[in-house]
Amino acid sequence: MMNLRVGAAVSCCFTALTIGAIFLNSAPVVAQQHDHKHAEQHEHEHEHEHEHEHEHEEDEFSNPGTHVHGEAMLTVILEGNEAMVALQSAAYNIVGFEHAPKTSEQRQEINAALNVLREGKWFEINPQAGCDLAEADANTDLTAEVSSTHSDFYANIGLICQQPARLNEMTVNLFNLVPSVQKITVQWVINGQQGATELSLASNTVSF
Ligand SMILES: [Zn+2]
Repeated sequence: MMNLRVGAAVSCCFTALTIGAIFLNSAPVVAQQHDHKHAEQHEHEHEHEHEHEHEHEEDEFSNPGTHVHGEAMLTVILEGNEAMVALQSAAYNIVGFEHAPKTSEQRQEINAALNVLREGKWFEINPQAGCDLAEADANTDLTAEVSSTHSDFYANIGLICQQPARLNEMTVNLFNLVPSVQKITVQWVINGQQGATELSLASNTVSF
């Protein structure tokens, strides 16, 4: 009895997952049309909303690296006294487009974003750990020769920490700098422990 019910739930949500993947990767205009359609289907509105939320969560856990507009991925690793913070975000979140830059203004926007990411001031580690910026790099495949439908920004920040054993908290300020980022999935490996969590504007601190 229980097994049957679980099986039914999985097959139901697998269909929703496929629809959801298309929905999440669509441009905002398409998303609006989608919402509108749902609003017209009064009888099924609640049921559908529930399915979408459920499928959404499963999608992230099974595919943590998926490119999703409005979301970013953050990896934090501490080994010895060296910490590495790596960010991947859909370019759409940061500059509002994902095609190769066509105007000098768009090139400037890309460079400005890369500079902000390189500065490494979009996150803070608890000061007791005594971490200082050692190296910082940021790049994007927006300017890559090969054109693709979707593009990302990447930032890799290296830090040297004087008291690595005391590294226990990180606050991510990216939500203020880049309002289009609504959710950041964080995966971390710190002092032999590992975990994952999700951050938002309302909850932007992760404890290790
Ligand atoms: Zn995209």
